[in-house]
Amino acid sequence: MKPPKRESWENSSRSKRLPPNWRALRAQVLRRDRNTCQINGPECSIQATEVDHIQAGDNHSADNLRAVCSVCHARKSALEGSKASRIARARMSALRKRRPERHPGRRDKRSQ
Ligand SMILES: [Zn+2]
Repeated sequence: MKPPKRESWENSSRSKRLPPNWRALRAQVLRRDRNTCQINGPECSIQATEVDHIQAGDNHSADNLRAVCSVCHARKSALEGSKASRIARARMSALRKRRPERHPGRRDKRSQ
């Protein structure tokens, strides 16, 4: 039983594909981790209200999810985002390798 793809969040800036039972999963993980941030960064607000994918990607199993506070989660997402766009940018510039040839009508051979 596959739900229809393309949910409203699918084109969001998060660009993470979440499973249809995400809400339930999320609640379960928050309960499991007792609403305690599992990252616990220096600015951690302790009260976890969000769920993070430990390994970014499509692994939505409870093992790959953890409760995090919004501060740590935002920081982690920002890091992942900048890393992802850096990789994307590198890939793009590798693809379009600068001007292929000189314009055939323009010869700048000086030895003629
Ligand atoms: Zn935190």
